[in-house]
Amino acid sequence: MSDPRGAKPIKLDPWLDHYAARASGLSASEVRALFAVASRPEVVSLAGGMPFVRALPEDLIRTALDRVMTLEGPTALQYGSGQGVPRLREQILEVMALEGISASMDNVVVTTGSQQALDLVTKLFIDPGDIILAEAPSYVGAIGVFRSYQAHMVHVLTDENGLVPDALRETIVRLKAEKRTIKFLYTIPNFQNPAGVTLSAERRPEILAICKEHNILILEDNPYGLLSFDEPVPPALRSLDEDGVIYLGSFSKTLAPGFRVGWALAPHAIREKLVLAAEAAILCPSSFSQLVISEYLTQADWRGQINEFRGVYRERRDAMLEALDEHLPELSWNIPNGGFYIWVDLPEQLDSKAMLPRAVTELVAYTPGTAFFADGGGRHNLRLSFCYPTPENIRIGIRRLATVIQGETDLLDTFAGTGVLALPTANESVTAPPPDMS
Ligand code: PMP
Repeated sequence: MSDPRGAKPIKLDPWLDHYAARASGLSASEVRALFAVASRPEVVSLAGGMPFVRALPEDLIRTALDRVMTLEGPTALQYGSGQGVPRLREQILEVMALEGISASMDNVVVTTGSQQALDLVTKLFIDPGDIILAEAPSYVGAIGVFRSYQAHMVHVLTDENGLVPDALRETIVRLKAEKRTIKFLYTIPNFQNPAGVTLSAERRPEILAICKEHNILILEDNPYGLLSFDEPVPPALRSLDEDGVIYLGSFSKTLAPGFRVGWALAPHAIREKLVLAAEAAILCPSSFSQLVISEYLTQADWRGQINEFRGVYRERRDAMLEALDEHLPELSWNIPNGGFYIWVDLPEQLDSKAMLPRAVTELVAYTPGTAFFADGGGRHNLRLSFCYPTPENIRIGIRRLATVIQGETDLLDTFAGTGVLALPTANESVTAPPPDMS
């Protein structure tokens, strides 16, 4: 087939009818191209979830690299255990202890970021059509994994204190009455991505009790828990129940995502299967990355470094909140006490996805709310990330966003009632933004 303007021939995929059914869940979204534009330096991107790694002490990382090569060179360059380097697994216990978890290193499985742990757990538990419960909204990267295993994701009402227990109970009862199979509840209890909310201490035992009563496993994904701005977060769900929870942790936000090191802490029986699944997928996680992180944790004041990150992100959160107050006082948003994200409610007539091209033209980017729902929700929300841009750029970005929102509102007012700007009813979400946007 050729382009009607006589340009290059358009290549169709000759293998289209060969793909497995599960591959149909893997589709690039049309906003991907916009995100590519959004990475240009002149655009203030409030879209990405990229940690501010420049705040890391580069010299300490370099020292760790040197020591690994001096002390363990060949081992660092070799395949290693499928479950992960034992010394690092012990140190991971110290990290988790900060959130009240006590565990055995035998049940820790090191993975290539917690993203791989999400994939492995889903692979182990999900048959096509099985149900996964999750917050409304939920992490776009998890939605992509769940979709690729043909899970059916059902969102559960979430408010400023996290998952609403009554809503969880009602959803489970309704789905069971429909004879649906619910495999697990996926939850990000601390400084949730994208909504920024934290599950309150009071609700935690209740959520556990509901899942226990209905025999539903919990997948607790906690990359942001140590990045609190004021008080520490309540104890992890896993600290209250060792048999019913698979806990996921990561060094991506507290150290650096470039190492690609995360972990799963699983009940003993599940742990065995996880290791087998991990070995089948990647043989073993990177020995080199694990040893460098282990050395860094041994030599550096990593707790102090996490405190520095908290200070950096708190300042950026404050800059964003102040700018929102100043430039967009008519909107509402949550006030996150940690993590990377602010979730904004737009007026009903504004569609965050439709508005994105205009925003990029005005040199500001955000992630439309639709990315975080499996069911087409989120059109009147957007996620703003304050982790990467400087406070100054955050202020510029919010000022530009206010111009975009004002322009869009004026346009809608001008054409109100004419039907010219009627919103399409597409029930489709942002399927696969690039990794740095997730
Ligand atoms: N879970 C959540 C909630 C996240 O926000 C992210 C990264 N954005 C991940 C998992 C994956 O992180 P990583 O693979 O880098 O550990």
